[in-house]
Amino acid sequence: MIELSSEHIESIQHHGESDYPYECCGLLIGHLSTDGKKQVVEVYPISNAREEAAKRNRFLILPQELMQGERYARSKKLDVVGFYHSHPDHPAIPSGFDQDHAWPTYSYIIVAVARGQAGDVLSWELEADRSRFNPEQLEICDGVFVAR
Ligand SMILES: [Zn+2]
Repeated sequence: MIELSSEHIESIQHHGESDYPYECCGLLIGHLSTDGKKQVVEVYPISNAREEAAKRNRFLILPQELMQGERYARSKKLDVVGFYHSHPDHPAIPSGFDQDHAWPTYSYIIVAVARGQAGDVLSWELEADRSRFNPEQLEICDGVFVAR
């Protein structure tokens, strides 16, 4: 289970809309409790590192960008608890590429952006044996999330 505020959801949606028709990506920074529950404190946008042609279908966070994000998280006594990216004109369902490049325990939030308008925001977790993605429960902690 992952907990975010409506503001976090909105900033992920806005990032997806501003990078459309390309994929946006970023880090989810917060707390990871021992029972596996994650609480997002901040979303940390990252530019898409891929070359123009591949940007439409794939996202990639460079190792140095992840390290930078982890350093930032640690300076605030937080952890990187997951990643987010957008799916321009595709549903918020992980692709085969996403599955091949994911790690267990992290949350993978995907925002669907259809014709420039952000819609569904879903969270996914990789099965421990990496065989599939499972839907993860996404809780809006302030309860004022407005569907768009
Ligand atoms: Zn994807």
